[in-house]
Amino acid sequence: MDRRAFLEALAVAAASGLPLASRAALAGDGREVYDLPPFGNASLLHFTDCHAQLMPVHFREPGVNIGIGPAMGKPPHLVGEHLLRAYGIAPRTRNAYAFTYLEFEQAAKVYGRMGGFAHLATLVKRLKASRPGALLLDGGDSWQGSATSLWTKGQDMIDASKLLGVDVMTGHWEFTYGQQRVKEVVDGDFKGKVEFLAQNVSTADFNDPVFMPYTIRDINGASVGIIGQAFPYTPIANPRYFVSEWTFGIQEAELQKRVDEVRAKGAQAVVLLSHNGMDVDLKLASRVSGIDVILGGHTHDAVPRPVEVVNGGGKTLVTNAGSNGKFLGVLDLDVREGKLREARYRLLPVFSNLLPADSEMASHVSTARAPYLDRLGESLATTSGLLYRRGNFNGTVDQLILDALLGVKGAQIAFSPGFRWGTTLLPGQVITTEQVMDWTAITYPYTTLSDLSGEMIKTILEDVCDNLFNPDPYYQQGGDMVRVGGMTYTCTPGEAMGRRISDMRLDGKLIEAGKTYKVAGWAPVAEGASGQPIWEVITQYLKNRKTIAPPKLSLPRLVGVEGNPGI
Ligand SMILES: [Zn+2]
Repeated sequence: MDRRAFLEALAVAAASGLPLASRAALAGDGREVYDLPPFGNASLLHFTDCHAQLMPVHFREPGVNIGIGPAMGKPPHLVGEHLLRAYGIAPRTRNAYAFTYLEFEQAAKVYGRMGGFAHLATLVKRLKASRPGALLLDGGDSWQGSATSLWTKGQDMIDASKLLGVDVMTGHWEFTYGQQRVKEVVDGDFKGKVEFLAQNVSTADFNDPVFMPYTIRDINGASVGIIGQAFPYTPIANPRYFVSEWTFGIQEAELQKRVDEVRAKGAQAVVLLSHNGMDVDLKLASRVSGIDVILGGHTHDAVPRPVEVVNGGGKTLVTNAGSNGKFLGVLDLDVREGKLREARYRLLPVFSNLLPADSEMASHVSTARAPYLDRLGESLATTSGLLYRRGNFNGTVDQLILDALLGVKGAQIAFSPGFRWGTTLLPGQVITTEQVMDWTAITYPYTTLSDLSGEMIKTILEDVCDNLFNPDPYYQQGGDMVRVGGMTYTCTPGEAMGRRISDMRLDGKLIEAGKTYKVAGWAPVAEGASGQPIWEVITQYLKNRKTIAPPKLSLPRLVGVEGNPGI
């Protein structure tokens, strides 16, 4: 941070009441934040869901993450002050900024951007220096989420992963480039460098494994088994036609067999590199025995400490390492006399200002971006409010998308998927093409305009809601709740499927089951879908306005969740 930026940050800090006693709070080389004494004899470093963010970003954690039934009030369903209290994080600190949405705007101005591959690379190199033989694991969702990743079919990220020294990876959004592209990378670019593991992906015809299910690595004399678990619901949550010849699923019984096999082959510690999502991992850990640690992803939960789950074989530690390059998990294992004696875990926030950019990675990133800089930098409008996505029901980014769909498409009602990725913009920042693509860069970006009956609208909302709030995590198959514009509704998350959605209204009048409504949406999973890409619709909307006022969130009336620490 230069002197001017430092003084500006201090002024912001003073004005916003953030206690910042010393220069060390803002600058420095991060030694005090990242000085983690080594432990044990085998270490694994883990990042997940970076969503192709090569550059440092702002990413606001959710303000709503409701847990229902047994999940209520338990990690990862803790937000804001509830999360701070549960983990003993002091409010208005660097860590409060990293792990929660609280006072996001002020804190972002003080502590700056997070992640960025050049900064992550510096942290990885430091930790590898203090932990010889440490492996780097990527939990997936690395090739999707930015303009350059979409325009290069993930190549910018594939090259960056190799340079970062990723040893083992599994996947989810990677599959939306199609099964051929994934195979081409795994058998080509990654050959001899990155092992892509997935025990739960098979061919649809003969049920043959598509990828290696596991690897057993010797780390300083400790034999560590790593099993890969790709996102089990890929063909449901994303278009099936991208992976038409493959089957997915949790494959619990198969996984148990693999764990036993890896143990029989001499693994003294077993780790699952999982893209299940944290609720699924917690249930899985209670039913499969012999896994020491699950390094989890998909649900983007930044969980400071592992959750210990007891099962038939002992216990399993379950972790989740956040998203967007904001965090790096450090798992230190002490393996002695053929057994794991102790495991220690820390989830380190990647503060870009505290970690100087690694020159080799910085040069890769700028080379990868160079051909696209003009296009990426095109300025479309300025936002006067905070634009963020995450939260169970809506975010200002999605509201902006809904407003664009309603306006440009001339619809009465608009739907936008509850994706968990998409970076945050601070008030006063320019919305560029790069930013719009951060919110929308997918391989099925088509917008649709359909006549739907009131009954169909209810069915859709019920279905998506069940994917989020079914008390059995194995039925939680998607992202956050679909964002809904134009109409209002009431949601009772604790109810059964078919009874969670009520009081649907358009302009104050009840929506009628037999009446037809004009509904706009995007990202259809059906084969053969077409339509104008969503980024064109948003671009048109932004260019007509120049300045975007803070979008007014359209939120359902929630029933039965009073006092839930997920709000
Ligand atoms: Zn995912």
